[in-house]
Amino acid sequence: MTDDAKPGNVEGCDLCTSAGGELLWRDDKCRVVLVADPDYAGFCRVIWHAHVKEMTDLSEADQQRCFRVVLSVERAMRDELKPHKINLASFGNMTPHLHWHVIARDIEDAHFPESVWGVRQRTPPSVAAETRRLVGERLTNSLSKLRSLSAGC
Ligand SMILES: [Zn+2]
Repeated sequence: MTDDAKPGNVEGCDLCTSAGGELLWRDDKCRVVLVADPDYAGFCRVIWHAHVKEMTDLSEADQQRCFRVVLSVERAMRDELKPHKINLASFGNMTPHLHWHVIARDIEDAHFPESVWGVRQRTPPSVAAETRRLVGERLTNSLSKLRSLSAGC
């Protein structure tokens, strides 16, 4: 994934050197990927292409653009997956390359009401490959609306 990561390709950074998941949508500034987490069908990341550490490293216009994509993923998940809750998170403690996690949560999922990084509460069946494929397809269709959103930035 060389072209997507430029500029600011930093050796050793996972998000500069790989897509970070299954690509669902991209434009010239950022991408949306689906993470293959065995516990979660609706686990996406919005990844800024350039290697920047914090939201405030972006111009104001790019901050708005990034957040608009995050909110569009949230909207797509609500429309397509009807989750109990959406979790938004941006840490970057392990990988200091700007990215947001957008996670569809269910009251019976592996960690609810903890965060997905918290204490496991139960062990639901793993997400089937076919389920993940269908979720990816539905989110991709919903996210196709983003092309017009980002064009105006
Ligand atoms: Zn990076």
